[in-house]
Amino acid sequence: DHLTDEIREKVQNHPCYSEDAHHYFARMHVAVAPACNIQCHYCNRKYDCANESRPGVVSELLTPDQAVKKTKAVAANIPQMTVLGIAGPGDPLANPERTFETFRRLSEEAPDIKLCVSTNGLALPDAVEELSKHNIDHVTITINCVDPEIGAKIYPWIFWENRRIKGKKAAKILIEQQQKGLEMLVAKGILVKVNSVMIPGVNDKHLAEVSRIVKSKGAFLHNVMPLIAEAEHGTFYGVMGQRGPNAQELQDLQDECSGDMNMMRHCRQCRADAVGLLGEDRGDEFTLDKIEDME
Ligand code: SF4
Ligand code: SF4
Repeated sequence: DHLTDEIREKVQNHPCYSEDAHHYFARMHVAVAPACNIQCHYCNRKYDCANESRPGVVSELLTPDQAVKKTKAVAANIPQMTVLGIAGPGDPLANPERTFETFRRLSEEAPDIKLCVSTNGLALPDAVEELSKHNIDHVTITINCVDPEIGAKIYPWIFWENRRIKGKKAAKILIEQQQKGLEMLVAKGILVKVNSVMIPGVNDKHLAEVSRIVKSKGAFLHNVMPLIAEAEHGTFYGVMGQRGPNAQELQDLQDECSGDMNMMRHCRQCRADAVGLLGEDRGDEFTLDKIEDME
C-alpha cells in the first residue's frame, strides 16, 4: 500500500486507521462540542455532525469535566480502549474552550490515550498550535471539494470573522482554510485523514481530484463516505429526494481514488458518543448516571 514505515508505526494501534487494529483496539468519542461555524446542506442540527457520524443520531452532550470522567471510566473497564476522539455533535474547533479543556486534561491525566479530533476545517489553522501541544496525532478534516463553484452548492454559508458569508465567497474561504490547515498539520508531523461526503450530481465527479490533491499535500488516508439521504433526515438543497450514492457508485469512486491514495473502507460513521470496538457501541454502559455509580 501507500503508507511509509513511519506512518504505519503510528497507526498500527488505531482502530480507525488500521484494518487489522480495528478488530482488537477500541475507540470512544465524547460529545463536548455543540456549536458549528458553517452550514452544510446535508446537516440537520438536531443531530450529530454528519461529517463524521451517521445522520439521525443525538449524542449525550457532556461538559469537559464529564467527558474526562467518562473517558477514565471507559478506560478502566475496556482495556483495549486506545483512542479518544472529539467529533461533535457540532464542529469541535468551533468550541475551542470545551474541546481544548478536554484534551488538555486528558493529555495530563490519561497520557496513554491517543487523542483525535474531526473538523470541517474552517477554524483549523488557528488551532494547529494548540493541538500540537496535546497528545494529538490524528486530525480528520472533511473536505468535500477544492472548487468554490461546487462548494457553493454544498455550503450555504459560513460564520467568519463575526459575519455570515454566503455562496462562492464563503466556499472559497472554507476551502482555503481547509488546505492551509492540512499543510500546517503535516508540517507539524500530525497525521491527517480526509473525509469526503459523496453527493451524486454535486461532487461525485470531483472527488478523485480532491483525493489527488490532499494526498500530494501529505494526508495519509482518504475516507469517502456516502451521503445518507433519509426522509427523516430531511432535505438536501431544500429538495426532497436528493439521493445518496448506491454501493456500486461508492465502490467505483473508492477504486478510482485508490490508485493514488490509501482509502479507508471500514469507517462506520460512528456517533459522537460511540464507545467500544468499531461496529460495536457500548455507549449505553457508560452514560453519565452509570459513571457516577462507578465512582
Ligand atoms: Fe452540520 Fe457538521 Fe456541517 Fe457543521 S460541519 S453544518 S455540524 S454537518
Ligand atoms: Fe473511526 Fe470512522 Fe468511527 Fe471515526 S467515525 S471512530 S473514523 S470508524
